[in-house]
Amino acid sequence: AIPLQKSYSIASIGADGIGPEVISAGVAVLRCLAETLGSFDLEFTDYDWSSETYKRTGKYIPDGGLDQLRKHDAIFFGAVGAPDVPDHVSLWSLRLAICQPFQQFANVRPTRVLRGTRSPLRDCKPGDLDWVIVRENSEGEYAGQGGRSHKGRAWETATEVAIFTRHGVERIMRFAFETARARPRKLLTVVTKSNAQRNGMVLWDEVAADMAREFPDVTVDKMLVDAMTTRMVLNPKSLDTIVATNLHADILSDLAAALAGSIGIAPTSNLDPTRENPSMFEPIHGSAFDITGKGIANPVATFWTAAEMLAWLGEEEAAAQLMACVENVCGAGVVTADLGGTATTKQVTEAVIAEIKATL
Ligand code: ATP
Ligand code: MG
Repeated sequence: AIPLQKSYSIASIGADGIGPEVISAGVAVLRCLAETLGSFDLEFTDYDWSSETYKRTGKYIPDGGLDQLRKHDAIFFGAVGAPDVPDHVSLWSLRLAICQPFQQFANVRPTRVLRGTRSPLRDCKPGDLDWVIVRENSEGEYAGQGGRSHKGRAWETATEVAIFTRHGVERIMRFAFETARARPRKLLTVVTKSNAQRNGMVLWDEVAADMAREFPDVTVDKMLVDAMTTRMVLNPKSLDTIVATNLHADILSDLAAALAGSIGIAPTSNLDPTRENPSMFEPIHGSAFDITGKGIANPVATFWTAAEMLAWLGEEEAAAQLMACVENVCGAGVVTADLGGTATTKQVTEAVIAEIKATL
């Protein structure tokens, strides 16, 4: 009998700037990995939705686009943002226009110092800064609630209302506790600003305290976000899993990426933990128009993103094997300029492909 072959259908959306460059590198590496391992199939469908499409048609996502996406097992996303489109338009029209209807309420950002990369922190070696930042991805400060009155007047008022629902806080907190429990140290740091913000942030603290009783094996500690930035720099080894609001975790994860060596290596997953909708996987960096078209974008963030996507699809071993190959290549010094090297996107990609073929 012919053995049943698992097959995953992936939507790829390169979008803007260096997005298409790193996504095509990621697709090439994933194709090679699947062929070499032979234990699963990957089928890619490319969607050319971007700021260019928007400027031509007035839309980032064509009519019926979300229904097309819904048919896939996962979405592999590059970056959105163009110099001549306001950032809030591009962000809300493409990235958030996928995250929100697909209920991707958990944004997960692993950090680790990879071999071949150097942390600006003196004592951090490869393997250190092994954190997972869990970011609430559906409400909070980025709920899009608020408005402006008296436009242009001296007394103009703008409100940006942060929305925290018990449902929203409980589901992200549960996900964070489960993430912490699945890791060896079983340590969760809950970040808020409940000294200054006495409604939503106090709800976070209460939900965390209640849930801690359900997870007696997880050690929980509480931090205010300002003190948290200091702790990440001065005592990074005291941290493991971190949960924070949409805004706070957005900032903390950029800091984490910089501490780990470069924004060019960090991945992020937008998960619907109920698995009713496809989840979306993307490098943390943006479209980086300053280096677009030069062939020097670091594809490592996208390779790590690809590994996170495989792990979510259930191919944990393949994900670990891919990361080992990526680290071997970085460790051998084949790295782009942001990591102090001279390699191009293409050279790093070809080196990872060669490593997969040679070692797997
Ligand atoms: P966006 O507006 O979409 O966030 P951006 O132009 O602000 O994009 P970021 O991606 O946020 O750019 O990154 C900031 C800078 O970091 C870029 O200008 C670029 O020089 C550098 N950078 C980002 N990603 C990479 C990468 N993959 N490889 C190398 N350098 C990168
Ligand atoms: Mg940016």
